[in-house]
Amino acid sequence: MYAEERLKICNSCEFNLMGDCALCGCVIAAKVQKLEESCPLTPPKWSSGTTLSQAQVINNSVCAPCTKR
Ligand code: SF4
Repeated sequence: MYAEERLKICNSCEFNLMGDCALCGCVIAAKVQKLEESCPLTPPKWSSGTTLSQAQVINNSVCAPCTKR
């Protein structure tokens, strides 16, 4: 699943500060679940998996909101 793959990358990232991304401030566990999200690095370590409109439909049904955005 895409979220698990993203989480593996974040878990080994130098910008993972106890579960929060130091670059964007998001809670990583929530950020990786949202399809329209991407890593803020240039180039990103992982990218969005779909369009924003597609992701919003999915996120409205399956994803807890990230409280830092
Ligand atoms: S989103 Fe990117 S910069 Fe942030 S912790 Fe994950 S891999 Fe690192």
